[in-house]
Amino acid sequence: MKFNIITIFPEIISSYADESILGRAQKNKLIKINAVNLRDFTKDKHKQIDDTPYGGGAGMVMKPEPIYKALKSLKALKGKKNKKTILLSPRGQQFDQRMAENFTELDEITFVCGRYEGVDQRVSDYMVDEEISIGPYVLAGGELGALIITEAVARLIPKVLGNSESLKEETHGSKEAKMEVEYPQYTKPEKFMKWKVPDILLSGHHKKIEEWRKAHN
Ligand code: SAM
Repeated sequence: MKFNIITIFPEIISSYADESILGRAQKNKLIKINAVNLRDFTKDKHKQIDDTPYGGGAGMVMKPEPIYKALKSLKALKGKKNKKTILLSPRGQQFDQRMAENFTELDEITFVCGRYEGVDQRVSDYMVDEEISIGPYVLAGGELGALIITEAVARLIPKVLGNSESLKEETHGSKEAKMEVEYPQYTKPEKFMKWKVPDILLSGHHKKIEEWRKAHN
């Protein structure tokens, strides 16, 4: 599966996406994360991607033309089969695990990351399939949102996580999981300071452990 992330800060993307699970998944060719520099789609010598808002007001707004050109070059303008183009926006539909599961059916996701006061409304109206928020708060840019969605989707792709069993039971888990919140986890040592691991988890009694876990969801 391919993830394109259109941004004015491509290094933010690579610094996270080249490490850990995402980095390994890329090396193993299970996913590809393509950070696209929006400034490459400008013509002027200042590589300007923003301008003042019509009607006045504070701050700058991201221009529609470079975003259009970037999406066109990626063949990711709205309405493409098996692809989805997402504008990160605090006004969008809130992202959740169900969305992540549905997105695994796609071949490609392209993200448009806003900055400044936001993005010219014509991007939302005519160029992308969806506007998505990662939560009810306002960030400085869409890059973290794009990475959050990429990671949530990528780790559901077969073989990206070493142990796919861990997906079945986790918090907000997959379709087959009945549990909404995962049980508490403990590891060694048995006693740290005065804090002990619950006895039942040390008992080796699988049925009782399962009951305890269900009771502690
Ligand atoms: N003036 C805008 C408003 O009040 O809606 C906020 C713009 S914000 C400073 C700049 C960019 O950060 C947005 O265009 C969007 O891409 C991203 N962003 C901020 N909060 C976000 C959120 N909760 N979810 C997804 N993207 C967000």
